[in-house]
Amino acid sequence: MILYIEKDTINYPQTQKILSFFPDADKIIIKNYKNIFDKNIPLNQEKSIIIAKLTWSAIWKTPDNYWHTPNTYFFKTSLNCIFDCSYCYLKWAFKNNMQVYFVNYEDIKKQISEVVEKETEFTWFYSSDYSDILWSNKITNFLQEFVPFFENFNNVMMEVRTKSTNIQEILDLWFVPKNTEFAFSLNPDELIKKYEKWTPSLDDRIKAINKLLEHGYKVWLRFLPLLPVKNYENIYKEFVEYIKNSIDIKKIHSSFASGLLYTKEDYNNILKKYPNLDILYRLKLEKDNFVRCDRDMRNFFYNLFKDLDQNCMICMDK
Ligand code: SF4
Repeated sequence: MILYIEKDTINYPQTQKILSFFPDADKIIIKNYKNIFDKNIPLNQEKSIIIAKLTWSAIWKTPDNYWHTPNTYFFKTSLNCIFDCSYCYLKWAFKNNMQVYFVNYEDIKKQISEVVEKETEFTWFYSSDYSDILWSNKITNFLQEFVPFFENFNNVMMEVRTKSTNIQEILDLWFVPKNTEFAFSLNPDELIKKYEKWTPSLDDRIKAINKLLEHGYKVWLRFLPLLPVKNYENIYKEFVEYIKNSIDIKKIHSSFASGLLYTKEDYNNILKKYPNLDILYRLKLEKDNFVRCDRDMRNFFYNLFKDLDQNCMICMDK
């Protein structure tokens, strides 16, 4: 294991925590993380972590119709994900698969506070868009830092989206937060095995969800991305039945469904990188320049998940 450490981050408490987590790692001091991260290193060649300072905006607006309210933002504290989902846009977003952890949490919190101050309506912040923040929490202390921070606000909610089952970190928080929801992405187990490499099984995710519900945490179900596979009708009908029988849907805070979706540019990039990925060939370019599965398939998915939860939200579609 190699730790690349930006010189300017050495005195950050967060850097020291990461260093103490990997006492035996080789340490290399660098000037700017991009000098390493932007190198074209083949996947899995070198186990490395980069500790860096985020020097540009941590926050950006979600695309139109992403959510039921326009006041929604993504924010990032790390880059790259330990899991290996075949459809994931991170596959072409970065040149290598090194984990980058930003340690200047106070700067990121300041940016969030500035957005909250300016917003007059209920505002959502989605963490983990570039990583699985729950998986890496032992290293990053994200929950311990950001969950209490979000409790300072009114009319604000943070979502921690994950496929990880590392919920002990949540249970070890000293309270049940009012302003954080834990959102679990779910798919049928046979599709998890085929397309979501190294992620926990469906049953393990369900166990984690039920444990959090038992302890009174706010839990979201995220049915995304729904995959356009052969025999999708039967696979997803059985999946929804399984969910109905395994999770008390009445206790779920909200649910969200979305088919596999790319911008035209992202689609062309992933197609170039994975020309044999079967699910890509069941998508079509639509007038709004997004590439998705066809309207009949989408309607099938939406009706199915509305039937499971009538308040299920549909992402970036009508
Ligand atoms: S868990 Fe999410 S971020 Fe990680 S590889 Fe899968 S889709 Fe990408």
